[in-house]
Amino acid sequence: MEVLAPDAQGIARAARILREGGLVAFPTETVYGLGAHALSAEAVARVFAVKNRPRFDPVIVHVAASQEAEGLWQEVPELARRLMARFWPGPLTLVLPKRPVVPDLVTAGLPTVAVRMPAHPVALALIREAGVPIAAPSANRFGRLSPTHHEAVLEQLGDAIDAVLAAGPTPVGIESTVVSLVEDPPRVLRPGGTPIEALRELIPELRVEPPTGPSASPGTLPRHYRPATPLFLWEPGPPAGGEALERRRCGFLAFQRPWEGFAQVEVLSPRGDLVEAAARFFALLRKLDQAGLSAIVVEPVPEEGLGLAIMDRLRRASSGRARLDETHIWIVR
Ligand code: AMP
Ligand code: MG
Repeated sequence: MEVLAPDAQGIARAARILREGGLVAFPTETVYGLGAHALSAEAVARVFAVKNRPRFDPVIVHVAASQEAEGLWQEVPELARRLMARFWPGPLTLVLPKRPVVPDLVTAGLPTVAVRMPAHPVALALIREAGVPIAAPSANRFGRLSPTHHEAVLEQLGDAIDAVLAAGPTPVGIESTVVSLVEDPPRVLRPGGTPIEALRELIPELRVEPPTGPSASPGTLPRHYRPATPLFLWEPGPPAGGEALERRRCGFLAFQRPWEGFAQVEVLSPRGDLVEAAARFFALLRKLDQAGLSAIVVEPVPEEGLGLAIMDRLRRASSGRARLDETHIWIVR
């Protein structure tokens, strides 16, 4: 763990750690972020591990120029260009369809990626020097306050990260406003440092999502990735009748070792490492989902560390449990 001064030398060191897949806490104008190379699923998985989040949430990607955002989004509508010109750098995060270079773990499986350009000289210098986009949620442990000073970062994450850029207090202390441009009209997903009134000058029809409950309005995008193929958690034990599907028409997502007799099998982590499993989880699930299978059976992973977040997502994505025999999967009702 290195405490780095926010000068040219410290920033160069921090940038190098990030490029090599390490974790660096850095100041933005809102709060301290816990940064990782945004195009490395393994680096981002480490962020989730350190934060102790019991679930996966999409992470904001930080850039140092609007041209860099264009390399992460599929296309850039005119409205996005006008918003970036007006509000960047600043506490405004824009959500648009992602390019394949953005790992599925960054977006928690969603087809969109959230990007912003922070208005803090240290953050901008760091991202520029790293030469890669930086994924960064707030640098706190799950359930704790977002840190607005490097001392708070040290206190919460000191031994778990590679470095912190020690730049004192952050100026704003509230998080960025998140706006989805995928929907028409655009929608505020989270209010924050950029006022709605200022946004309405460019987007008069801007909608603000109700603070609680699933939105009933049509066209609203799912908040979580859910496979279209029915998904079942494997349960040990003999089949007890009920509905059965042919095993050779089903896929299997294994933790460490492949299982026989399925149409397609993917392995999360041959070395049994939950960080590697998390890094590969969404991409493998999507691969199986796109393979035209009758169902996907998933082997539960150990419920510790990142295994908690993986199992949380699996439970929410699954239609129930299934037992196996040599030829069939039996759905447990
Ligand atoms: P934080 O990183 O803690 O500031 O929180 C990130 C915020 O951005 C959360 O409210 C996320 O739900 C939101 N967010 C990040 N990525 C996406 C995305 N692809 N689509 C929708 N919302 C997103
Ligand atoms: Mg947070």
